[in-house]
Amino acid sequence: MSGDLSSTTRTKLHRLRERGSTDRADLYAVLDAGLVCHLGVVIDGSPVVLPTGYGRIGETLYLHGSSANRSLLSADGQQVCVTVTLLDGLVCARAVFHHSMNYRSAVIFGQARLVTADDERLAALHAVTEQLAPGQWAYARLPTRKELAATAVLALPLAEASVKGRSGGPKDDDEDYQTDIWAGVLPAALTFGAAEPDAKLTEGIEVPEHIRRLAGTTRGAAR
Ligand SMILES: Cc1cc2nc3c(=O)[nH]c(=O)nc-3n(C[C@H](O)[C@H](O)[C@H](O)COP(=O)(O)OP(=O)(O)OC[C@H]3O[C@@H](n4cnc5c(N)ncnc54)[C@H](O)[C@@H]3O)c2cc1C
Repeated sequence: MSGDLSSTTRTKLHRLRERGSTDRADLYAVLDAGLVCHLGVVIDGSPVVLPTGYGRIGETLYLHGSSANRSLLSADGQQVCVTVTLLDGLVCARAVFHHSMNYRSAVIFGQARLVTADDERLAALHAVTEQLAPGQWAYARLPTRKELAATAVLALPLAEASVKGRSGGPKDDDEDYQTDIWAGVLPAALTFGAAEPDAKLTEGIEVPEHIRRLAGTTRGAAR
């Protein structure tokens, strides 16, 4: 399934198609740089879109949550939509009509399935954990059988997806370029602060290297 992303009736961009990409590598770049996805699912006839963490293994996206998580359970065998958004900047134009945002985003459609096999569930939880803080799976205590039983894992194939992005400055109307209104871009990115030890942390435990390395870094900054 490597190569270009297929364009389907659901993933075909209608607006500003030039901002889209059919390159699977661009899809993976957005997914691998993100931290939060939004899962859209219809529950009892009503759509709900909820933010949650995720991880990717090859051509499958994994989401996890409580085994009582309504959206994950409802998604099993259903068509869902997952989005990931990276905000790269606020685009301030001379006219409010042209205000915009720089971004990279991915939209994935497909039939979700609850993962039942132990080995796939563990691999998925590893991917979700490492997506957030690489090195944490090897560092922290691994889940017990009871904890695994209390966890739902949802898989979504990365088969039907679109990628879109905007970069650069504002695009104003010709006559507005002569005004004295400031226009430009305010870059934005998610930056981790310094690590804050848990109030109950046993004295003397140092911040582990993989967390120390994350502190102060910017996540998935636009190149
Ligand atoms: C941070 C951010 C802020 C935005 N702000 C605005 C705004 O204020 N106003 C506005 O009109 N638009 C905004 N957009 C763009 C918006 O996501 C849509 O692309 C746009 O509104 C066109 O919508 P549509 O329903 O006509 O999409 P269509 O082009 O009809 O969508 C068809 C298909 O194209 C794909 N697609 C569409 N948009 C995206 C996307 N962003 N990423 C990946 N795939 C996509 C999906 O598969 C979708 O099913 C923003 C996007 C981001 C990420």
